[in-house]
Amino acid sequence: MKILVTGGLGYIGSHTVVELLQKDHEVIILDNLYNSSLDILARIHKITGKTPNFYQGNMGDEALVQRIFSENGKIDCCIHFAGLKVINESLENPLGYYSNNISCTLTLLKVLGKNNCRNFIFSSSASVYGDAAHVPVSEETPKGECSNPYAWSKSFTEQILYDLYQSDKTWNIVVLRYFNPVGAHASHLIGEIHQSAPPNLMPYITQVALGQREKLFIFGSDYPTRDGTGVRDFIHVVDLAKGHIAALGVFNTQNASPAYRIYNLGTGEGHSVLEIVQTFERVNSVKIPYALVERRPADIAVSFADVNKVYNELGWKSTLNLEDMCRDSYLFAKEYLESIK
Ligand code: NAD
Ligand code: UDP
Repeated sequence: MKILVTGGLGYIGSHTVVELLQKDHEVIILDNLYNSSLDILARIHKITGKTPNFYQGNMGDEALVQRIFSENGKIDCCIHFAGLKVINESLENPLGYYSNNISCTLTLLKVLGKNNCRNFIFSSSASVYGDAAHVPVSEETPKGECSNPYAWSKSFTEQILYDLYQSDKTWNIVVLRYFNPVGAHASHLIGEIHQSAPPNLMPYITQVALGQREKLFIFGSDYPTRDGTGVRDFIHVVDLAKGHIAALGVFNTQNASPAYRIYNLGTGEGHSVLEIVQTFERVNSVKIPYALVERRPADIAVSFADVNKVYNELGWKSTLNLEDMCRDSYLFAKEYLESIK
């Protein structure tokens, strides 16, 4: 298939592009490099021996998106990763987040529709469930109150996509709700890059392991969990990338009618913050000093996915374990730091 990948040089996008190229799909990337760099394109080439067609610019630039269609002819599908994702930033700058994540997506959808590119995969998030009454959360679990504009931008975009499908049933839409992506490609050439203090657990741990931070602050040790720390469904980014390949199957299947589908992408297992720290220390033979501190406002105690639907309908399930996630996160960060010295 010929596939437009927005945000294709970002963390999850670049891993998905690698999987797509290795499956011989033709890839066109649109990325404004707000949170990525051209160097990732070279790294994708190093892994796959292929260089996707790349456009630098904003997905909200209607003329640019139209030019992509004019220059590339029929595009079969769009995988839409482009977006801003930092929760705290979204609390400080809600308009910027809604503008980038929603307004720009509306422009993108308009141009896609005009060019008959109506197979669409959207990067959503488990945060749309809010603080669900029961875990694991399934796709049937009602969406909840989001605690920040970032999460609302995902929840609203899902609704927009649903309304679009209802208005025009030639759209074929797959919403993928990611749980907690971590890890890096086995080559350790691509992974999650943070310029400043990372808000998420795994990149923070890797910075402590590499001596860039003195210690990890564990937010909350009095949750009703097995060791008092928060529990999340961490999923290896390569498994997540492969989830997108599985989702493409929806568009390939002969006689499958267009639909609006939602799938959880997680492992189905929850691990506590302390379990992550201990596993990280063991597999990487490093020490992670930590301090137990107050809960982070608006954090939920436990989140993990029911993954039956995605397995039954798409045949996808995760294959990499917590050891793989901790090892690849660390080795990527270590090798990346050395490569940019
Ligand atoms: P990322 O920041 O690494 O990648 C996003 C890419 O999109 C970046 O390369 C950025 O430069 C680009 N981009 C942003 N706005 C753009 C715009 N207007 N036009 C063109 N390019 C633009 O993020 P990621 O972790 O790879 O996440 C990918 C998607 O998955 C995002 O939509 C994110 O919200 C979603 N998601 C991420 C996580 C996570 O924990 N990483 C969890 C759930 C959902
Ligand atoms: N967490 C932590 N210290 C950190 C970052 C995160 O203790 O520096 C905890 C956080 O409270 C939560 C878990 O790690 O229980 C996962 O947090 P993350 O921000 O990675 O994902 P999210 O909370 O968005 O699912």
